[in-house]
Amino acid sequence: MGKTLGRLRRLPEIECFFPKTTREAVSLLKKYSSKAKVFAGGTDLLPKMKRRELTPKYLISLSGIPDLKFIKYEKEKGLRIGAATTLNEILQSPMIQKRYPILAETVSQMASTQVRNIGTIAGNLCNAVPSADTAPPLIVLGAQLKLVGPQRQRRVLVEDFFKGPDHTVLDRTELVSEIQIPPPPSGAKGTYLKHTLRRTMELAMVGVAAYFVPNSKKEMCKEIKIALGAVAPVPLRAKKAEAILTGKPFSDELIEKAAQVASEESKPIDDIRGSAEYRREIVRVLTKRVIEQSLVKG
Ligand SMILES: Cc1cc2nc3c(=O)[nH]c(=O)nc-3n(C[C@H](O)[C@H](O)[C@H](O)COP(=O)(O)OP(=O)(O)OC[C@H]3O[C@@H](n4cnc5c(N)ncnc54)[C@H](O)[C@@H]3O)c2cc1C
Repeated sequence: MGKTLGRLRRLPEIECFFPKTTREAVSLLKKYSSKAKVFAGGTDLLPKMKRRELTPKYLISLSGIPDLKFIKYEKEKGLRIGAATTLNEILQSPMIQKRYPILAETVSQMASTQVRNIGTIAGNLCNAVPSADTAPPLIVLGAQLKLVGPQRQRRVLVEDFFKGPDHTVLDRTELVSEIQIPPPPSGAKGTYLKHTLRRTMELAMVGVAAYFVPNSKKEMCKEIKIALGAVAPVPLRAKKAEAILTGKPFSDELIEKAAQVASEESKPIDDIRGSAEYRREIVRVLTKRVIEQSLVKG
């Protein structure tokens, strides 16, 4: 059977830890290293364990650590989201809906209420699949992750976090403690859209996010970021498409050209959800759509 359809088997006996602080979680991770996995909601990890794709002997839960559960906004510094914050907490945050609507819109397109009640944004990123829905919007928002290990803390842009399917820059003893997003530039607007085989409860076949800053008269694109999901080994920026639009007045022709170039920048594969050729065409369609939909937002 294929990887995604593999038989689910009962979990073997595992020792599970429930630390109360990040420091405790990191020291457990250091102690058990390659034999341990941290988890938050477990919505990605447990199915993988049931398919025996991962066989950790020790699990370290992050969900009961109060210092990883917060959403904080400061005008100068922007937004900080603790790693144990659930997807539904993000979706329901009035502050995120107001200042980072692209993030709330993205989460509303993910999974189901039940999965969002326990699944986390950090888990979505750390699972490191190219189709992770939160990656493209976080990339265009310029988000970075705070990584905490036994010896050091460091920050890495979400854009540089992924190394390939199932691989990130995290080393075995590090965890993500928070997601940091800069304050939104004045007038910035963005949209994330995903294309799926089924209408709901489905991973993206293609996901596209765009976020741009118009000039004061709103007819020119001062800055734009476009990110693509599920069409390469890692979520990626469509930088050539961005260059086409930057510093120019928006026009149908220019948007069409940028969408075509974004499609050429994608590197999709044929798989169970769709062919590479179809995916490239969907990148073109969604890129055009996310820009057009963002333009009409207030
Ligand atoms: C029915 C169903 C529908 C789904 N629909 C979608 C969807 O529409 N879009 C989508 O993108 N995903 C979807 N998913 C996948 C999943 O729900 C999300 O990726 C979710 O955000 C994962 O969060 P979690 O907290 O459950 O991760 P977990 O399963 O707890 O962890 C996932 C991985 O990340 C690691 N990890 C978790 N937190 C940290 C941390 N703080 N630091 C370091 N490593 C960490 C774990 O070790 C594990 O390897 C779906 C899953 C299910 C079961």
